[in-house]
Amino acid sequence: MSVTLGYAEPLDDDFDKEHLPSKIGGKPRWLDPTRPLSVDKVQCDECTNPMVLLMQLYAPEDEPAEAFHRMLYVFICRNGVCHKASAGRCMRVFRSQLPEDNSIYTAQESEAAGSCSDDEDDMSWSLAEQVRLASVCAVCGLSGSKACSKCHAQFYCSRAHQVADWDAGHRAQCGSTHPQMSKSAVYSRKLQHMMYPELVIVSEEEDASKLEASNADYDDDDDEGSDDDGEDNEGIKPEDMALVPVTGEKVEDSEVDVDRAFLLFQRRIQKNPDQVIRYTRSSGASEPLLVSDLGRPEAQADVPDCELCGAAREFEFQIMPQMLNYLSIDSADSTSVDWGTLLVYTCPKSCNGASGASAYASEVICRQNFSSQGIGEKFVRALHGDDSGITRQIESLRV
Ligand SMILES: [Zn+2]
Ligand SMILES: [Zn+2]
Ligand SMILES: [Zn+2]
Ligand SMILES: [Zn+2]
Repeated sequence: MSVTLGYAEPLDDDFDKEHLPSKIGGKPRWLDPTRPLSVDKVQCDECTNPMVLLMQLYAPEDEPAEAFHRMLYVFICRNGVCHKASAGRCMRVFRSQLPEDNSIYTAQESEAAGSCSDDEDDMSWSLAEQVRLASVCAVCGLSGSKACSKCHAQFYCSRAHQVADWDAGHRAQCGSTHPQMSKSAVYSRKLQHMMYPELVIVSEEEDASKLEASNADYDDDDDEGSDDDGEDNEGIKPEDMALVPVTGEKVEDSEVDVDRAFLLFQRRIQKNPDQVIRYTRSSGASEPLLVSDLGRPEAQADVPDCELCGAAREFEFQIMPQMLNYLSIDSADSTSVDWGTLLVYTCPKSCNGASGASAYASEVICRQNFSSQGIGEKFVRALHGDDSGITRQIESLRV
């Protein structure tokens, strides 16, 4: 099974001109900028504040023709306390798509490409001249349905963001004859900080040759015959024990609670420790890399069928815990946003039922946490070299 990995990298100079980016943070770049998403679709069910963009992923499909351009948007509430609730209450995923023949984009063969190629990979897209961009919120980029009552030149998704913008600096700028010029660096920075830091997502195939050894000895979880009570943890090598979650302060040798999914997860990503996304949709039967044996999403109960066409949703990609490292989150704060992995399930038909009134089809996001409280942070720190003595703890238990 081939997997495409996504990595976070700083923006380059041309990023501003990119209409169809895969990226973390910042304001959303709408596939259809004449119809930005409205705030009522991304209101947190816990705190009622607008969620912000966590990431967007450009994931076009050959079939159907309506998904020639296809963008997935993931929104989450920035308030970590809300993340104690189920993922469905504080996170949303939307799919937006356009056929090749559309009124928004015109194709240009990029200069770098050879003259005789009509491969779509060599095309770049620019906005058609007649496209009228919709007003968007000055703070978050959602549909800007409310205007500043004084200057009528600044738009907002909600009262909350109007107030936030006023405090951040619009108070001084409002009514200025040169609104763009007077937007101070401090004001710009304050606005930026209301979103997650913006980074581009670059992709790379997972190197299967590096994984051969580690996959060979893994059979899936439905091996009924195995008894898990002995020291005989088939296929799990001593080096894999490095980050076994420690559950109690005194754990007997034979009773280390081995979460096999977690060990496999750890083993797989150690080969490419900076991955923030794993994308598997194009590779047929697609399975997420779970972080725990517990909390595996169930069809129907956790992943309902597509509301638009009735097809059973399939796993498309997952967001890794490493992405948390790029969000300027205070990981020492126990109430901060956290996850083991976020699994995104989408309509396998990329159905177009969402055209017309709403350009956004709702899809499903599930969160899986690490099985032991607190292992998430320790795990992420360990990946970056600070293992805080976990390895030694485990080794002393094992020998
Ligand atoms: Zn919230
Ligand atoms: Zn807003
Ligand atoms: Zn104003
Ligand atoms: Zn569908």
